[in-house]
Amino acid sequence: MTPERAFSIPMRTRFRGVTAREGALVRGAAGWGEFSPFAEYGPAECARWWAACHEAAETGWPDPVRAWVPVNVTVPAVGPDQAARIVAEAGCGTAKVKVAETGQSAAEDVDRVSAVRDAMGPHGRVRIDANGAWDADTAVRMLGELDRFDLEYAEQPCATLAELARVRRRVGIPVAADESIRRAEDPLRVSAAGAADIVVLKVQPLGGVRAAMRVAQECGLPVVVSSAVETSVGLAAGVALAAALPELPYACGLATMHLLTADVCAEPLLPVDGQLPVRVPDVDEQRLRAVEIAPDGWRERAAAARAQWRRQADPVGE
Ligand SMILES: [Mg+2]
Repeated sequence: MTPERAFSIPMRTRFRGVTAREGALVRGAAGWGEFSPFAEYGPAECARWWAACHEAAETGWPDPVRAWVPVNVTVPAVGPDQAARIVAEAGCGTAKVKVAETGQSAAEDVDRVSAVRDAMGPHGRVRIDANGAWDADTAVRMLGELDRFDLEYAEQPCATLAELARVRRRVGIPVAADESIRRAEDPLRVSAAGAADIVVLKVQPLGGVRAAMRVAQECGLPVVVSSAVETSVGLAAGVALAAALPELPYACGLATMHLLTADVCAEPLLPVDGQLPVRVPDVDEQRLRAVEIAPDGWRERAAAARAQWRRQADPVGE
């Protein structure tokens, strides 16, 4: 199994310092798989992304226990009026508000969260995401101030596990770990350190839907399923995970299709009334061709990732 096709899709706004999302697509017995590790990842990290792609293309996913998965709308670090508009247009029951943006003040964060709470009404759920930007004292102070907006949880208020644990002991708002989780063993470290109440899980970095389900079970914390900003082929794996988990107490971070200017599927995985349908979209030849790039570089990355993955799966053999 090797990537036959590769894509480069411009992003609407810069993400992780890049302006285009690139990856490869593989077709196997079970359907399409996406392999789209970020550019800075080496073979050891890519092995898990390859495992996820292989599962999608060759094995398929566990049976779903629900037909729809709720998703959150994400509010970037914009002014309060625009924040309220984004929330109203999305029609989601949960909003995630980005805070702690470089160059912005605490007052701007408070104004934005306040506007979102108003727009969501008293029954809407509001969470914040600081992307690890606060130190522990700032996090405690800010969460104290934001507490009156009845937050569902605070995602990655600080960067390190020690800081997260400290914040968690000092505030009443649940803490979710996102950036702290990049490998399968990380959720266990998070839970052992008492660093979070909730873990954000993504299928590709964890090595597939089944691997992510095992991680969820072993760490014993409630899960928020999120995307790595993929095409609808990759998003479908996140949807499959959210659909197969025995319990899904939180809306997922899977409404990310709109961050890309195009998709490789004719029917992109876009939310309807705040939910994504549990389905596997098919690749559309015309749409793929519109964003297609030569697959050579991706074949090399996939070969290195596959070799690493086989070594991990069978460390003594071959
Ligand atoms: Mg996050």
